[in-house]
Amino acid sequence: MNLQNPKKFKLLIDQAHEVALNVLRPISRKYDKAEHAYPKELDMLSSLVDGMNDGGDGMNAGAAVNKRGDTDTGNKNGVNMSTALSIIEMCYGDTGLLLSMPRQGLGNSAIAAVANDEQLERLKGTWAAMAITEPNCGSDSAAIRTTATKDGDEYILNGEKIFVTSGERADSVVVWATLDKNLGRAAIKSFVVEKGTPGMTVERLEHKLGIKASDTAAISFVDCRVPAANLLGNAEIDVAKGFAGVMETFDNTRPLVAAMAVGCAKASLERIKEIFKDELDEQYSTPILQSSNIAAQIYRMEADWEAARLLMLKAAWMADNKKPNSREASIAKAKAGRVGNEITLKCVELAAAVGYNEDELLEKWARDSKILDIFEGTQQIQQLIVARRELGKSSSELK
Ligand SMILES: Cc1cc2nc3c(=O)[nH]c(=O)nc-3n(C[C@H](O)[C@H](O)[C@H](O)COP(=O)(O)OP(=O)(O)OC[C@H]3O[C@@H](n4cnc5c(N)ncnc54)[C@H](O)[C@@H]3O)c2cc1C
Repeated sequence: MNLQNPKKFKLLIDQAHEVALNVLRPISRKYDKAEHAYPKELDMLSSLVDGMNDGGDGMNAGAAVNKRGDTDTGNKNGVNMSTALSIIEMCYGDTGLLLSMPRQGLGNSAIAAVANDEQLERLKGTWAAMAITEPNCGSDSAAIRTTATKDGDEYILNGEKIFVTSGERADSVVVWATLDKNLGRAAIKSFVVEKGTPGMTVERLEHKLGIKASDTAAISFVDCRVPAANLLGNAEIDVAKGFAGVMETFDNTRPLVAAMAVGCAKASLERIKEIFKDELDEQYSTPILQSSNIAAQIYRMEADWEAARLLMLKAAWMADNKKPNSREASIAKAKAGRVGNEITLKCVELAAAVGYNEDELLEKWARDSKILDIFEGTQQIQQLIVARRELGKSSSELK
């Protein structure tokens, strides 16, 4: 095993790190205070990222512009790995700002995961949000009620979506809807709805604990017509395949959300190590029983953080190498989400008044980190998925 970051991504990681320190950190507090204001500084940054993406394989600096790996054999570190590594650095800068980056939405991941070649080409360069959650359905995404009814060359969408990240700002929203409620999961498909489509209305923006730079929208769909060609992937209802089509999206996005948690926690961990540098032994040569209690807690956090990072890299690597990774993606998200929450909050605790004060970003990172253990499947849901995989049980056998 070689546990170092792949050498070919060194430049990318260094660049993302510089962006985090010099572009994101200086405006972190400003957009934490100015909830719902669009961070206009991101326009130039996202153009730069687009330029890097055009540079070829692996040159992604933002969230979720990934697709499944395109090799059948060998050992490839591709776009899932490079995206995960750059996300760590960007979230070391600011998680809310990363989530606000144009053209880097979770809907882009859905497109990358399930769109056909024509759609991939047509939707190139779009900024897509993802709308699954509804007022009566969060964790149980199979329970969605939004409907899609075929009418000639169009589908008519009706329903309500809540908590849509970038739902107001994005060019389009990838909406999950059912073609036939009686056919269960297999009938759930995703549809690209462009901003401004009649019948689609942003009803409100949510006020949140953290990631305040990111807009979170409630959107209604009333007789909203979209071209039939905007149904992502295959329109057939394959009862045998069930939910697999749309679920593939999560196999790609969960390692990336884990990367966000790792990046946000890295920010807190580095800051606390700076604050307590006199307590720490950089060589790790002091026996643990002779270390201070604070040092012991910091070493423990370092170990947890490293474990989360490695699990996340494994899940991303599997995606690059076309290996089924649902189990590993959930393990990574569960571990990184939990450890990320624990570390960021523990760092506030250890720094006490300094940690709680707005002069520092420690309190903000603790708030920002919380969502990473909630969206894209909560801690409990990830554990449930892992348990199902371990025990060989279906979702109806283990709920
Ligand atoms: C800031 C923010 C941004 C978001 N962005 C998006 C987005 O872009 N697109 C989108 O579609 N959604 C988004 N969401 C929604 C998010 O994915 C859901 O909040 C999440 O899936 C949990 O759903 P819920 O809030 O309805 O909680 P519920 O499903 O009601 O869960 C409540 C609690 O019960 C637990 N629970 C539920 N079922 C089980 C079970 N079977 N076993 C054990 N425990 C269980 C959960 O873990 C949780 O602790 C966002 C949410 C927030 C807050």
